[in-house]
Amino acid sequence: MVEMTPRRRVLAALMGGKVDRVPATCIGGCGGSVCVEIQEAVGIYWPEAHRDAEKMAKLSSAAQKLTGLENLRAPYDFAIMPEALGCKTEYRDKPEAKPGVREHPFKKPEDLSMPDDFLEKGRIPAVLEALSLLKEESDDFLPVSSFALGPFSLAGQLTKPEDLIMWTVTKPDYVEEFVKFSTEVVIEYANAQYRAGSDVITIGEPLGAPDIAGPDAFRKFVKPALIKLANNLQGIKIFHPCGDWNRFVSDVIETGFDGISTREEIDIMRVKPQLGDIRILGNISSKGVLTFGSPEEVKTEARKALKLGVDLLEPACGVEPLMPLKNIKALVEVARESKKEE
Ligand SMILES: [Zn+2]
Repeated sequence: MVEMTPRRRVLAALMGGKVDRVPATCIGGCGGSVCVEIQEAVGIYWPEAHRDAEKMAKLSSAAQKLTGLENLRAPYDFAIMPEALGCKTEYRDKPEAKPGVREHPFKKPEDLSMPDDFLEKGRIPAVLEALSLLKEESDDFLPVSSFALGPFSLAGQLTKPEDLIMWTVTKPDYVEEFVKFSTEVVIEYANAQYRAGSDVITIGEPLGAPDIAGPDAFRKFVKPALIKLANNLQGIKIFHPCGDWNRFVSDVIETGFDGISTREEIDIMRVKPQLGDIRILGNISSKGVLTFGSPEEVKTEARKALKLGVDLLEPACGVEPLMPLKNIKALVEVARESKKEE
């Protein structure tokens, strides 16, 4: 088969088309595509690149060039929507630090209100502009991807994560209202990302993963919100449950996403046959072998994941700030080799 462009390869892999080989990408996961080494290589640093569209686009583009990963990705943190809605965010002046929500002012459903000009608030214009710049630069050769926090995790940022989890038992009506509100917010933000130029969006649920929220709360609050979200997203959509969903395969399938970005805990051999047309992205440990292992160890894990049948070879939870560049390159090399083995 003729060598495909990365965009063709990645979109075909996501939509069940034929591919010349498995792509190596960084579409799923919570973490983004940028590590400290990449910032140092191009002299563009966090926190500025979290706020400045041009710097964000340049950094994402450099990440793609330096790693060889086959997509352009922005942004990099969880605080964008909460900040746009009025949560106070802290930016630490360190290239390994991501912005974090420091004050959670939403304490009851009556506190929630959607600003008319939500897409103009906080860093949202910078993110959308960065995606447009990346789309322009990609020249349809590379796919552009982006990330949005899922409804349950966003609700947990608006109030406090521990409060939201407690409310699932003590104030379920509050949880319903918070998650319903957050779902509308995510739909608006994510669809704006597609319009700006993103080909595929990952919805990350660190707090809403079935093993973190708990099985009952997942089925009662998280899953219905994800179904509504999936029904309303206008482009290719990936769900990243940032946890162990080995025991919740049918629930995860029923959310209706095109692909599942999978952490290293997941038994791919067991879950893959159940997924049917849903694609698997992953699942090389971001906080484990990719950050602390050697390139050879990364290659061993990556070859294993290819053999088990991942459709896109990826860091399980995105690129970690302290991940060595040589380890990301090792992952990319394994995907490139896979062509020769066919
Ligand atoms: Zn994750």
